[in-house]
Amino acid sequence: MTRRAARRAAYGLLAGFLLGAGGAPGTTTLAPVPVERSVYLMGTIATLAADAADRAAGLRQLERMVRVVEAAEAELSTWRDDSVLGRLNRQPVGEAMSAPVAVCDLLERVESWHDATGGAFDPAIGSLIEAWNLRGEGRQPDDAALQAARRNAGWEHLTVGLGGAAECAITRTADVTLDAGAFGKGEAIDRVRRAEGAEADAWMIDFGGQVAVAGGSWPVAIAHPVKRNEAALEITLSEGSLATSGGSESDLTLPDGTRIGHILDPRTGRPAPARQPFSVSVWHERALDADILSTALYVMGPEEGIAWAEARGIAACFLIADEVDEVDVRATSAFEARF
Ligand code: ADP
Ligand code: MG
Repeated sequence: MTRRAARRAAYGLLAGFLLGAGGAPGTTTLAPVPVERSVYLMGTIATLAADAADRAAGLRQLERMVRVVEAAEAELSTWRDDSVLGRLNRQPVGEAMSAPVAVCDLLERVESWHDATGGAFDPAIGSLIEAWNLRGEGRQPDDAALQAARRNAGWEHLTVGLGGAAECAITRTADVTLDAGAFGKGEAIDRVRRAEGAEADAWMIDFGGQVAVAGGSWPVAIAHPVKRNEAALEITLSEGSLATSGGSESDLTLPDGTRIGHILDPRTGRPAPARQPFSVSVWHERALDADILSTALYVMGPEEGIAWAEARGIAACFLIADEVDEVDVRATSAFEARF
């Protein structure tokens, strides 16, 4: 495991493991067997748990779930050259690449959130991630480098959709590259949910910054935005997915002390500024949407973000730390109604 992986795993949501605790009244007293497994998946330590009839069934279920995530990673990871999105990033400009229909469906959803968030969410920022050296030690790009990177960033440089004979064709109209960091895990979770179906035994996936569950009630703690090993808010999750974005161990610090956040504001090409350290958690039935929206709301920041989410009935909760690390909780009414 890399140092980066260890740092990332320590961040975010801390899911509890009271499997099926507080299940529906009147359920059978035959105790289900909790099975749990931690695996390195999608650049982070993932914990999976299932609440099966017996241990063997539970282990089989977890193995199935891991396989689905691995298949999603093989298709969507932008850390790998051999994935579909990895290939797309190297596809000659102006030449359509055909891809599985599931990839076009996903990218269409991604595009609609890009548009709805006014570009606060924009995964077509590979050039900016490179300019700020976010996959390395971090760097403050000079103006010329930043301008060059911005010219090759932005969803508008991608065309997704029907292209002649191919059912799904994607074209890069500039030397733009995609980064799946803010939506890949969410999509992988949704694929697990679809594969397991509604009849499956209760399960939970914890990707560090994102938790998803099916069946039962699962205690989940949202970490303090600064003191990451402390819980700032505890909730119970019984369906859907909760994703958290924040300044985190993934942020970088330059030798001169400048902090470079790992979430960029595509509208400026710079790390999203945070007047005070904060995190934002979003609950959504669909894990992809929760993943995307927590990143988008982090970029918008508490003021713009709360108003935007409230106007759209999105369940979001900002945790804002003050000078003495006291946490101010600001949730939308949809979040309060749910938790
Ligand atoms: P985490 O990576 O901590 O789980 P997020 O889900 O918020 O958190 O995703 C952040 C990642 O998404 C970054 O590491 C980067 O790869 C990518 N990214 C950064 N800024 C944006 C943005 N504005 N829109 C889309 N993707 C982004
Ligand atoms: Mg995200």
